[in-house]
Amino acid sequence: TPDPVPAAPGLLGRLMGRGKADEPRRALDDDMLEQLEDLLVGADMGVDTALRVTANMAEGRLGKRLSTREIKELLAAEVARIMEPVARPMPIYAKRPQVVLVVGVNGSGKTTTIGKLASQFKAVGKKVVIAAGDTFRAAAVEQLQVWGDRAGVPVLTAPEGSDPASLAFDAMTRAQEEGADLLMIDTAGRLQNRADLMEELAKIVRVIQKKDPSAPHNTLLVLDATTGQNALNQVDTFQKLADVSGLVMTKLDGTAKGGVLVALADRFGLPIHAIGVGEQIDDLAPFDPEDFAAALTG
Ligand code: GDP
Repeated sequence: TPDPVPAAPGLLGRLMGRGKADEPRRALDDDMLEQLEDLLVGADMGVDTALRVTANMAEGRLGKRLSTREIKELLAAEVARIMEPVARPMPIYAKRPQVVLVVGVNGSGKTTTIGKLASQFKAVGKKVVIAAGDTFRAAAVEQLQVWGDRAGVPVLTAPEGSDPASLAFDAMTRAQEEGADLLMIDTAGRLQNRADLMEELAKIVRVIQKKDPSAPHNTLLVLDATTGQNALNQVDTFQKLADVSGLVMTKLDGTAKGGVLVALADRFGLPIHAIGVGEQIDDLAPFDPEDFAAALTG
């Protein structure tokens, strides 16, 4: 299993200095709270969330001398409290095929995440079909085929530049005929022309609903953790373009910006289904709030 989120090592070490973890060291006063806020903002938690977290930590404890361990546990508990409600794996329905629309800006890790998810679902005996719906990006289609091969899952493609909705319709037909459990549809991530992208996504949804009015059953938004606060804007944008049902946060390996997940959870409350922790096929982990909180607080 991959290492869970070594997000911001030593966050509290920097605040409390060296010394025994259990020795009362500093009073939880305004000065300390301000420094703590700065650290959290530096880890990309965002000002609003950082303020709320530190305010909760201070409640009933202002002026009390605390050890490094106590501060760390308080902070981790606050972070875990925010993250627990959103730590939910992608729901699996009895519906066949369960249609999973995957959205996100180019480079966020959509292709990779689809490959990883396909591999995980296949490993538990699900029959998966992938549709390479980013038909305008030949490289994305090729890359998805590579992932499909790795996962041992068929990838349906269409000629470059052809209508993604028509591919989605064909993929839906095939997935139904074959009795597939899951159909994962990749989509374009060109935010340069939002009106176009919105229409493209809406059309995909319209055509798959002709085959199954309850589809898509999940709309996953893939976000790149290294973009920090930008991820918040991307959620805002994609919620206007599609009915986002859950998030996958990629590239949490080796970023000090993992705090953005706390800001996302605090602001949107969307489920975080999984986290990407590397470029290999097995590098997709369930989101564990306690591990995450412990790793973030360092
Ligand atoms: P797409 O344009 O959204 O389809 O993005 P890709 O799936 O092609 O990913 C873009 C780049 O990010 C590739 O180089 C991937 O290997 C890399 N990538 C994706 N997910 C992760 C992850 O969880 N960790 C790391 N380190 N790299 C990732």
